Amino acid sequence: MANVQVSIITIGDELLIGQTVDTNSVWMAQRLNDLGIEVKRRVSVGDIAADIRTALDAEIAVSDVVLITGGLGPTVDDITKPLLCQYFGGNMIVNEEVLQHVKKIFEVRKKPFLERNLKQAEVPDSCTVLFNKLGTAPGMLFERSEKAIIAMPGVPFEMMGIMEDEVIPYLQQNFISDALLHRSILTAGEGESFIAEKIIDIETALPSHVKLAYLPSAGVVRLRLTGRGADKQRLVKELEMYQDQIANRVEEIVVSLHDLPLEHILGRTLLENRKTIGLAESCTGGYIAHHITQVMGSANYFQGSIVCYQNEIKEKLLGVKKETLEEHGAVSEHTAIEMAVGARKKLKADYGLGVTGLLSAGGEDDRVPVGTVWIAVADEQRTVAKQFRFHYDRPRNKDMATQVGMLMAWKFLQKKI
Ligand code: ATP
Ligand code: MG
Repeated sequence: MANVQVSIITIGDELLIGQTVDTNSVWMAQRLNDLGIEVKRRVSVGDIAADIRTALDAEIAVSDVVLITGGLGPTVDDITKPLLCQYFGGNMIVNEEVLQHVKKIFEVRKKPFLERNLKQAEVPDSCTVLFNKLGTAPGMLFERSEKAIIAMPGVPFEMMGIMEDEVIPYLQQNFISDALLHRSILTAGEGESFIAEKIIDIETALPSHVKLAYLPSAGVVRLRLTGRGADKQRLVKELEMYQDQIANRVEEIVVSLHDLPLEHILGRTLLENRKTIGLAESCTGGYIAHHITQVMGSANYFQGSIVCYQNEIKEKLLGVKKETLEEHGAVSEHTAIEMAVGARKKLKADYGLGVTGLLSAGGEDDRVPVGTVWIAVADEQRTVAKQFRFHYDRPRNKDMATQVGMLMAWKFLQKKI
């Protein structure tokens, strides 16, 4: 089947009153989209039998696959399971495998197994059980005239577990015949519209089975090519040809041909060059260190970060000169450079990165406009500093400073700045 269509129904009164944000359908839609599966509709209904039935009728009519979450638990408000049994026919039976699993969970949690809990191991005999190793309520698959209706628990991480372990492999087996592949180009330094303008002829010449998406995030724009085709090897060659074409056209702004976060790209480059980095973070408050340490193996190249929020700390721990701070201010080229140099020395690293900025109004330093950030990188021979202006709120400005800081360190290592 080439163009399988999916509907998502999320069930729960809490979704309708806005108490719980429906993150399940967002996550499922993103995950399915990654696989090239089109989501036709997303619907939320309350724990009301008639509403659930109406939604099922409507979605089964338009889609090949209907994914449902919520209301599978053992409490009275959880009506999805008996309702599905009625809807598809059959009887509720205790599934032995699920029963053993549920009993084990109760044992581990040291909770008594009640009569009511037996219900958790009951499923309609008209379904195939999708094992839920992360919780008690199993997923259920109903197949009806070439269509699949799949119910999962509402607890997000349990739903995700069943999706990854059971549902996605099932969909790949039964509903997707074409290969679906992605190739990316990570760029930094120019906006979407500039890139679009530069590659317009390449983009318009793409065949209909290859799509190009612009995915901007803090400081970078990811270009993602998605191709679909019956012949996987041919598709790989084709996508890589377009990837090359685009990358060559925007050569000066390409950071990577791998779809990885900047902390991975920076980490990889440091590792390959057997170099280390140390940070002096003022306005980012350790956020760059947080990102760098998200990467497994960062201990091989990350020395540490001095979070130097106060001027006194910049002086004492990094050796930034009092005169520099007085004369130029904390958010200045001179301070950023002395921070980077200080971080390199104090943390005994090959490279030092210093970040200082005014992220939102109300800071002490009113010598620069709000959103000004100075970033500097230093090694033994040279230093480079750049000024940035961000125009968002405080958290997003912090994120921008973090991304741009990592990017500058990477460019410095590559001798691109
Ligand atoms: P359980 O067996 O744990 O009772 P269940 O299938 O009955 O699971 P619900 O009772 O509907 O699921 O929801 C369990 C939890 O999952 C609740 O905290 C609920 O807020 C959350 N949840 C339910 N649906 C969604 C959703 N669409 N998005 C995010 N969270 C959800
Ligand atoms: Mg429940």
